[in-house]
Amino acid sequence: MAYANGYYCNLKETYLFTEIANRVNTYVAAHPEKKIIRLGIGDVTLPLAPVVIEVLHKAVDEMGVKETFRGYGPEQGYDFLRQAIANYYAQRGVDLSLDEIFVSDGAKSDCGNIGDIFADTNVMLIQDPVYPVYLDTNIMRGRKVIYMNATPENNFAPMPDKKVKADIIYLCSPSNPTGSVYTKEQLAKWVEYALENNAIILYDSAYEAFIDGEEIPHSIFSVPDAKKCAIEFNSFSKIAGFTGTRCGYVVVPKNLERQTENGKVMNLNSMWLRRQTTKFNGVPYIVQRAAEASLSKDGLQQCWENIAYYKENARIMMKGFDECGIKYYGGVHSPYLWIQCPGGMKSWDFFDELLAKANVVGTPGSGFGVNGEGFLRLTSFGSRENTIEAMERIVAVFKK
Ligand SMILES: *Cc1c(COP(=O)(O)O)cnc(C)c1O
Repeated sequence: MAYANGYYCNLKETYLFTEIANRVNTYVAAHPEKKIIRLGIGDVTLPLAPVVIEVLHKAVDEMGVKETFRGYGPEQGYDFLRQAIANYYAQRGVDLSLDEIFVSDGAKSDCGNIGDIFADTNVMLIQDPVYPVYLDTNIMRGRKVIYMNATPENNFAPMPDKKVKADIIYLCSPSNPTGSVYTKEQLAKWVEYALENNAIILYDSAYEAFIDGEEIPHSIFSVPDAKKCAIEFNSFSKIAGFTGTRCGYVVVPKNLERQTENGKVMNLNSMWLRRQTTKFNGVPYIVQRAAEASLSKDGLQQCWENIAYYKENARIMMKGFDECGIKYYGGVHSPYLWIQCPGGMKSWDFFDELLAKANVVGTPGSGFGVNGEGFLRLTSFGSRENTIEAMERIVAVFKK
């Protein structure tokens, strides 16, 4: 008798994106003449950088020649890419050795898979609203999850509560969906909490390339002692537009250790290596070459031009909402604007109003957790023309 994993019954059905599609389709059917602008897109839209494309072509050619053909590579990634990642972190003042870096097919898989090296009895501390991957992957394992409220009162960056005992904490900065960020001082408090509780912080820095200025840290490892309590996830998806090309990485500090429930001391870096070499066979050579190219001097320059484009979109959006007197969070260090629905409207009501009156589509905040109710997520991943037009419409409708 094969039994199915019953914990899957505890997953909440998410109708968010189907429901958005349904409502948009219904509106379009009734108003076929209207041009709908989608500002809810959670995906990059600009093409890969020219340097990346050039290197991809070259790497493909290498695969067609006997002398340079590659089969299985190292599961944890080629040294050339790990070195490029280490150099990238060094530019931010973070020192990593190559064996602390594990290349993967993306941060989503890593954020989900990391649970393999932790006991199922751990208590997980997760923000609400949140990127659903952290939550659902732990529900699938039957782990206990406790929530911390991300609200306007804490700028959507909740801080540790000494009374709450958690074993593993997910932090995402800049955050999806709220665009909030943690300062270095705030992260230092989280590190202090983790060290006091022998906890582990799982830090998602997928949007670090959107951080403006010097103030906000790009990596939790800029905090002293974070290597004693944190694992970091990063990805080429948002910095280099690799959402469809697939490449990410995890940083597991070399000396990071925790005990088993029986008191045996385990090295988490060795465990993750063992997990990856057992269940994962590496990222395509050509993709790793492309990822390396994105971190070269020219590559970064070109990637940052794309990010600057999205950030200018965000500025246009923020200016429009300022004109309307509609409050928002995020947008500065992030492609996400977290709009407080005007007049105390609920997420879906504001969604409907925006669709009907401005023909603009957002993502209802209530889809990301209880505390998302009353908010709407917009992104700056649209085209400049669409962003400008959408904001002109919004200003025309909502400016008092
Ligand atoms: C987009 C995103 C990632 C990156 O995921 P990939 O699997 O690398 O594409 C990671 N975390 C968050 C919160 C994201 O929004």
